[in-house]
Amino acid sequence: MTTKLMKAVHITRTGGPEVLEYSEIPRPGITGLDDVLIKNFAIGVNYIDTYHRSGLYKLNLPTVIGREGAGIVESVGEGVKDVCPGDHVVFLGAPSYAEYTTANAKYVAKLPVGIDFKIAAASLLQGLTAWTLVTQSYAVQTNDWVLIHAAAGGVGLLLTQLSRKRGANVIGTVSTSEKAEIAKAAGADHIINYSHQNVIEEVQRITNKHGVHVVYDGVGANTWETSLACARRLGSVISFGNASGPVPPFTISRLAEKNLKLMRPTLFNYLTTKEEFQKHTAQFLEMVIEESLEIKIWKTYKLSEAKQAHIDLEGRKTFGKLLLEP
Ligand code: NDP
Repeated sequence: MTTKLMKAVHITRTGGPEVLEYSEIPRPGITGLDDVLIKNFAIGVNYIDTYHRSGLYKLNLPTVIGREGAGIVESVGEGVKDVCPGDHVVFLGAPSYAEYTTANAKYVAKLPVGIDFKIAAASLLQGLTAWTLVTQSYAVQTNDWVLIHAAAGGVGLLLTQLSRKRGANVIGTVSTSEKAEIAKAAGADHIINYSHQNVIEEVQRITNKHGVHVVYDGVGANTWETSLACARRLGSVISFGNASGPVPPFTISRLAEKNLKLMRPTLFNYLTTKEEFQKHTAQFLEMVIEESLEIKIWKTYKLSEAKQAHIDLEGRKTFGKLLLEP
């Protein structure tokens, strides 16, 4: 039997965007009971893909990278009951920079009417991240002061919208005036451009020297000290990413200065069961369908242009979501 091939972006070593290889590799198939083979029509680019590529987060090599996509089910394993060939689905957690992906049925959801492939692949991973951050990591309350770093980024724009929906006052940080406009349009009440403004001084001024109830920090190394300084007494610091590099080692007793709570959540620990995934996905996509959340797509690149997508994302050029199209 001849091996079926597909176009994919894979890595055989870790490093900069140059290690992303666009080539033909064997198409995956069904090997496990819970496998779902999907023909991809839209692929989400996430910051975690750059960590996998650089080696910050370890993967077994060689591997196709990517963790999110949407498409049509081709075939399913014997144990799969919820989706069948022909269904339009979105998936998380399986190698997605490819024409075909075999995903675990646990992280595959049928697309509801009103959600197309692009919106699904543009919204789910970042959307569930933002949704679990504002409901589980720290439950944002009406009138809270919330500081969101990189507020014009993929997760940032969703965090901004969801915090506003929960009645909070949002302060967003951004690096350019263009991003300031984007974050403001998403609902941020105050914008601090950290390229030329002092974030700690601005937060003190805006909050009348109280500081914020919660800081959402996906930037990491560069913003870590600022985040600690901006949280108010009894406040929470939620560190959920490393866009500028990992947070340096930290002495826990420093939290006692203001009785701070610190959390370092990862999305998949909120989605350990199929029920959790389905519940959060349904809740989130319902908000997208009702159009109470805007999904902003920065650009759709061809799959063969994945390298450029990573260069743009790491170069801080982008706002909202980056997609790839096979
Ligand atoms: P973004 O679209 O937010 O892109 C990252 C942004 O970070 C940039 O646009 C930039 O915004 C800002 N940034 C600040 N300093 C740097 C720097 N030195 N290099 C690069 N970017 C910098 O990406 P995502 O929305 O995909 O992800 C945001 C964060 O959320 C990432 O850290 C990611 O790892 C994390 N994440 C965590 C998850 C979890 O489960 N814990 C799940 C999903 C995402 P600006 O120019 O305005 O500063």
